[in-house]
Amino acid sequence: MRIRVVVKKRPLSKGERNAKDVDIIQPLPSLSTVIVHQPRVRVDLTREVDAVPFSFDGCYGERSTNREIYDTAVSGLVHAAVGGALATVFAYGQTGSGKTFTMMGSDMTGNRRVADANRGLYYLAARDMFRLVNTEQYRHLKVTVSLFEIYGGKLLDLLQGRKGVKCLEDANGRVCFLGLSEHDAESAEDVIRVIEAGAEQRSTGTTSANADSSRSHAVLQLAVKLRNPPPTRRRGTASPNDNEVGRLSFIDLAGSERGADTDRADRKTRLEGAEINTSLLALKEVIRSIACASRDHVPFRGSKLTQVLKDSFVGENARSVMIACVAPNLSNGEHTLNTLRYADRVK
Ligand code: ADP
Ligand code: MG
Repeated sequence: MRIRVVVKKRPLSKGERNAKDVDIIQPLPSLSTVIVHQPRVRVDLTREVDAVPFSFDGCYGERSTNREIYDTAVSGLVHAAVGGALATVFAYGQTGSGKTFTMMGSDMTGNRRVADANRGLYYLAARDMFRLVNTEQYRHLKVTVSLFEIYGGKLLDLLQGRKGVKCLEDANGRVCFLGLSEHDAESAEDVIRVIEAGAEQRSTGTTSANADSSRSHAVLQLAVKLRNPPPTRRRGTASPNDNEVGRLSFIDLAGSERGADTDRADRKTRLEGAEINTSLLALKEVIRSIACASRDHVPFRGSKLTQVLKDSFVGENARSVMIACVAPNLSNGEHTLNTLRYADRVK
């Protein structure tokens, strides 16, 4: 499996504009390339600007909408999942780079009058998934929604008061989640309602939802299942996955800059940083070793994140897209370069 990697630049915010921060990111969508204009002070104190190009499978500038990303990079995965694939969409990038805006859309900010074009990928994918499932060809299928986070090496069900979930492999090598709640949905609106209920729980114990979400990976799964499973399966021997046909997972990764929180005074932050660093490195290693010809040893065990994704990376039916999100401003230049280097390594 080769992962498709695209880059998305968010617009300069009002705060950044007011602080006279400058835009150093030049997207070239027609060339699938983004250029970072990185100022540099030389030894003799003269200034120069390095132009560093990075090429991917796609590039979206600040005027691109979520709809455009969906249509060009994600909709194929929805069709694949309904047809039996295990598909995954990742959002990677530093905190504040637009990962959640891309995945969830601006729905969550309380702004209910979101332009359709900026609905998140969750909504746009769910809408197409239900359109497909409601056609004659797929009438035997249904969709269930699960939402959990991976935090500190643990899986916590966000639709069940952050209850612990176990991740195991069944006899067929499919990853299954013991104790994870699954919610029936019949429309994209249902899916959003389920997610919103979870979002309220996600911020528990912190003053701001964002401070918390930047330290965990949020996983939304839309599972495509048989509506009326055959009655031949005996209780007890059945795997939770027996009726699953395909699956589409969205992973809103922890803020990539958090992995560097390893020399901070506060022990909790340090441990969280180490965990995030380990999981993002493991993800990169797994993607790279799968892309290589020799895949005798793929280091899935390297982190909880990669264990969870194991079956979504192997086999004919695996499809993935990574959206590398970047901020436009000079102050975030180093983080942006780190994100683009990471994305460049997995492509
Ligand atoms: P992350 O999830 O990566 O931490 P967010 O998605 O929360 O980042 O985005 C940070 C801020 O930038 C939010 O206020 C969000 O509304 C805004 N933002 C992100 N992408 C866009 C965009 N394409 N257009 C307008 N605002 C955006
Ligand atoms: Mg976020």
